[in-house]
Amino acid sequence: MILNEHGALRCEACGFDFSARYGERGHGFIECHHTKPVSSLSAGERTKSQDLALLCANCHRMIHVARPWLSLSDLRAIVTPFGNAGA
Ligand SMILES: [Zn+2]
Ligand SMILES: [Zn+2]
Repeated sequence: MILNEHGALRCEACGFDFSARYGERGHGFIECHHTKPVSSLSAGERTKSQDLALLCANCHRMIHVARPWLSLSDLRAIVTPFGNAGA
């Protein structure tokens, strides 16, 4: 888990911070992506925290928009870090 100095969650791919963008309503909001598909777990195996990536809704959707799904490092390679897009 990545908590910034305000205790907010940031997207692991682009750094998007829902509470910075949406204030109180976005506080604590983030999407969880299973880097290890649940279907690949063997019986009784639990999802470990290192198998979860915390992503903003955009990055999460970009991983799943087409198969094969991107890995987190693949996504990081194509994403423009939040704040560097010239907005
Ligand atoms: Zn993101
Ligand atoms: Zn996912």
